[in-house]
Amino acid sequence: MAEENLSAVLKCKGELILENRKVPEPTSHEALIAVHTVGICGSDVHYWKNGRIGDFIVKEPMVLGHESSGVVVKVGSEVKHLKPGDRVCMEPGVPCRRCEFCMGGRYNLCPDIKFAATPPYDGSLCRYYALDAAFCFKLPDHVSLEEGALIEPLSVAVHACRRAAVTAGKTILICGAGPIGLVNILTCKAMGASKICVTDISESRLKFAKELGADSTICVTGMDSASLVTKIKSTIGDSPDIAIECSGAEPSIRTAIMATKSGGTVMLVGLGAPEIKMPIIEASVREVDIKGIFRYANCYPIALGLVASGAVNVEPLITHRFKLEESLKAFETAHSGDAIKVIINCAK
Ligand SMILES: [Zn+2]
Ligand SMILES: [Zn+2]
Repeated sequence: MAEENLSAVLKCKGELILENRKVPEPTSHEALIAVHTVGICGSDVHYWKNGRIGDFIVKEPMVLGHESSGVVVKVGSEVKHLKPGDRVCMEPGVPCRRCEFCMGGRYNLCPDIKFAATPPYDGSLCRYYALDAAFCFKLPDHVSLEEGALIEPLSVAVHACRRAAVTAGKTILICGAGPIGLVNILTCKAMGASKICVTDISESRLKFAKELGADSTICVTGMDSASLVTKIKSTIGDSPDIAIECSGAEPSIRTAIMATKSGGTVMLVGLGAPEIKMPIIEASVREVDIKGIFRYANCYPIALGLVASGAVNVEPLITHRFKLEESLKAFETAHSGDAIKVIINCAK
């Protein structure tokens, strides 16, 4: 095997470089993966532009990327379910498996989780990456490696929809038609939601949301909360049972709370300002539950099942493709706002 491992490294805030690193040696429980496709996430772009997300601060050079798929090259002595040549999608967070959160099945809340491309842990935007084999999921033959990379953002939507209890017949408001809003449309549809209304400030994004399966869309530019709530209700025919807020914008969160039916749920998925003003009494007296999510737990098999069965088609989300050598261009494209999903091919 070649000794080189070309990697896209964030040296410090604003400085993304390509660097040759050592090919890692898998431990007894790991698989060495020849990375094939990596999707660029909003968080990758945020680390590049700002050098931090909340308390996660880039202090040492860090390889970016966590939405990845690849081909197994080598496995450790204890790995039973994988062999060289297997195509896999890679769940990027490996928890401790011993704390109360891990033992309780909510390993996304593990305080010691090692998550790819979250400081200080390197990501997988490189040629070779070693990962705990329990977090490598074999792709069926008819699922492509590009689809495999998109299992990561799809898992975020699966987790959001499960925590919001999206089931057959529910009416849904999705605020924000960026990549995460879009995977939530796909997931809500697959879970049997009867009506999905999507809001955004961009007409072109809303057009895309409609193509992906949204039943109705509302452009919120220039609208105040009260008239927007009325418009949402008349568009759906009733107040939505569930709002999935993917923008993180304060006015949008406020609208989501006010628009949701009494007894319903507002799921906060998009992250914006750390503190905001919202109508908390309105939520209280109408028993609107406000919940949040952090990544996902036990969602990869479900997301992969949705894609494998044809219930969800993630392919239309991919708008731009680059080579690993063109990583900077790929990040500039993702940052421009013109793209939905930018993916990088890391194969040689
Ligand atoms: Zn991501
Ligand atoms: Zn743990």
